Amino acid sequence: MSEPKKLYIKTYGCQMNVYDSERMSEALGGQGYVETQSPEDADMILLNTCHIREKAAEKVYSELGRFKGLKAEKPDLKIGVAGCVAQAEGEEIMRRQPLVDLVVGPQSYHRLPELEAKTRAGEKALDTDFPEEDKFEKLKNRPKAKRGPTAFLTVQEGCDKFCAFCVVPYTRGAEVSRPADRILHEAQDLVERGVREITLLGQNVNAYHGAGPDGDMTLAGLIWELNKIDGLERIRFTTSHPNDMTDDLIEAHGTCEKLMPYLHLPVQSGSDKILKRMNRSHTAESYLRLIERIREARPDILMSGDFIVGFPEETEEDFQATLDLVEQVRYGYAYSFKYSTRPGTPAAERPQVDPQEADDRLQRLQALITRHQREIQDAMVGRTVRVLFEKPGRLAGQMVGKSEYLHAVHVSGADLSAGDLRNVRITASGANSLAGEVL
Ligand code: SAM
Ligand code: SF4
Repeated sequence: MSEPKKLYIKTYGCQMNVYDSERMSEALGGQGYVETQSPEDADMILLNTCHIREKAAEKVYSELGRFKGLKAEKPDLKIGVAGCVAQAEGEEIMRRQPLVDLVVGPQSYHRLPELEAKTRAGEKALDTDFPEEDKFEKLKNRPKAKRGPTAFLTVQEGCDKFCAFCVVPYTRGAEVSRPADRILHEAQDLVERGVREITLLGQNVNAYHGAGPDGDMTLAGLIWELNKIDGLERIRFTTSHPNDMTDDLIEAHGTCEKLMPYLHLPVQSGSDKILKRMNRSHTAESYLRLIERIREARPDILMSGDFIVGFPEETEEDFQATLDLVEQVRYGYAYSFKYSTRPGTPAAERPQVDPQEADDRLQRLQALITRHQREIQDAMVGRTVRVLFEKPGRLAGQMVGKSEYLHAVHVSGADLSAGDLRNVRITASGANSLAGEVL
C-alpha cells in the first residue's frame, strides 16, 4: 500500500472557515490525504484565509513567503490558498507569490480533488466561481470518524446586507440557506459520531430560510427540529443580525431547552449617524429595545457583540454613544476592531479617522468591555452551572469544558471524560476562565 499523502491546513478568521477547513480535509481525504500538524511533513499546504481586515489578508502573503525554503527542498510540495483572500484576489495571488499552485474560493472547494490532480500534472489550478451545484451536497459523504463533543455546522452562507465596511457580500456571495433535511441529516450524523453540542453557522445565521417540508423554515423552526435529536444536548448559533431577530427566535430562547443562553448580536456602533453611514438599518434605540425583549424571554442570557471603532467620520461624540450603549447592555464577551479600509467597499471612499485617535478609542472601548466581562464572570462564583467537558486541561488530572454561557470551566481531580455533561459549582474566577467542583 502506498504511503498516505500529508495535508497541512492553516485556518484564519471566522468559525465558518474552521468548518470549511474540515470539509476541505475530507474532500482531499478521498485523494489519499491525511492531515498533519507540521508544514515540514506536508505534500500539500493549504491556507484557508480571511479578507475581513487588511491585516488578516497581509498575513497570508507573509506566511506564503515562509514556505519558499520548504518548496525549494521539496519541489513536489503543492501550496494552495483557499477562503476569502483567494476569492477576492484570485490570479493576483499567483502573480504576487509564484510558489502558489492552487487558488480556490469558498464556494468551489468541493472541486478540490480535480484541482489537486491538475497541480500534480504540473499545472496551476484556479477556481473562484460561484458554481450552480451545491458544494454541501457534493461533500455529503463525510467519513464516519469519531469526533469531539462540539461541532460547527454551516446552515447559511453569504450576505445581501452590504454594510458599507464589509467584504463578505463580495467574497462569500449572495445569501443562501441550505435545505433543512440536509442539515438535520448532517446533525444526526455528527451526533452518531459523538457530538453533543452543535453551533449553527452563517454570516447572517438568523436570516436562515431553508426549504423545509412545508415551505421555508426559519432558524427557530430548524432549532426546534434539532431539539428533537436524541443525544444532541446543546444548540448554539452565530452570527446574528439585529434586523433578523424574529419573534419565534426570541421566544425559542425562553422555551427551547437545548438552546443555550448566549447570543452574539453585533451592533457595530452606538451612534445613529454612524449606523446609518454603515448601512446597518437599525438604530441604537431599536437594538436596545430588542435586547430588552430577548432578556424578557431569557433573563440570564449572556450577550456578546462586535464593534468597529474609527469608522470614517466617527467623532468623539459618536464614540461616546458607543460607550453609552456598552454601559447599558453589559456584554459578557465582545469583539472590537479598528476600522480597516477594504478596497471596493463604499466606506473606503469616505474621509478616514486619524489612526492614533482610532487606536485610543479602541483601547478605551476594550477597557470598558473587559471590565464588564470580568464582573459578569466573577459573579458566577458560588453559582452552579452545567458544563460540557471537552478536553484535558494543562494541569495533570484537570478537565476543561464550557458552561451554558460559554465560559471556560476547569475542574481538577474528578473522574471525567470528554463529552460528559455535569453540574459544577463555581469556586473561583481567573483571568479567562472559571474553576469549580463537580456536584
Ligand atoms: N454578519 C455579522 C454582522 O452583521 O454583524 C458580522 C460578520 S463579519 C465577518 C465579523 C465582524 O468583523 C463584523 O461584525 C465587524 O465588526 C468586523 N468587520 C467587518 N468588516 C470590517 C472592517 N472593514 N474593519 C473592521 N472590522 C470589520
Ligand atoms: Fe458584513 Fe454582517 Fe454586514 Fe453582511 S451583515 S455585510 S456579513 S457585517
